[in-house]
Amino acid sequence: MGRLAGFGVTFRQMFKPRLTTEYPVEKSARPVRLHGRHVLNRYEDGMEKCIGCELCAGVCPARCIYVRGADNPIDDPVSPGERYGFVYEINYLRCIHCDLCVEACPTEAITETKLFEFSFTSRADAIYTKDQLLVGDDGRARRQPWELWDGHEDEHTSEWMRATSPSGAVQYEGRANWSGELGFGVRAAETGQTAPTEPTEEPG
Ligand code: SF4
Ligand code: SF4
Repeated sequence: MGRLAGFGVTFRQMFKPRLTTEYPVEKSARPVRLHGRHVLNRYEDGMEKCIGCELCAGVCPARCIYVRGADNPIDDPVSPGERYGFVYEINYLRCIHCDLCVEACPTEAITETKLFEFSFTSRADAIYTKDQLLVGDDGRARRQPWELWDGHEDEHTSEWMRATSPSGAVQYEGRANWSGELGFGVRAAETGQTAPTEPTEEPG
């Protein structure tokens, strides 16, 4: 490409709508399924959803989840199952926010908020403990001092599972196949997941 043609490309781009924003003063709208900081969810009665099965830790490609399960105390169970997660840690120095842990979890215990603006000044802060990850009594994330919450990033923490039926079949769109959440109840299905109708082939 000659020099003048190169200037021509630049000139034409000058009049196109700008896609970049003046971050952090101006922030783009976040997709509902943005993968951000995790939360550990609780059922509507306050019990923890995590059963300490370690599937999330096993599937994590970055090996940043550490879980240890224990038998539930008979008189004061933590979760409805036989076991619960008594240690749960995520190392955010390693997490790549792939959401494989969310997909692997059999009880919808681990999901993600939309929060992505958080930074640490120590390794200890980067490794979130169960107390930091478990939602509070209002069902919302427990906000840490080094996190920059921008409003409602912790309102739609289970968008992913509410859009995907267990069988992957679109005829299950709109059916609630997930459990209720503390503070939010049984959330409505995410709409707009029906696949477009396949064009039928003309017999040749
Ligand atoms: S989002 Fe991916 S990398 Fe992060 S903890 Fe989950 S499985 Fe591991
Ligand atoms: S978060 Fe889910 S997958 Fe991970 S240990 Fe708890 S129940 Fe198992």
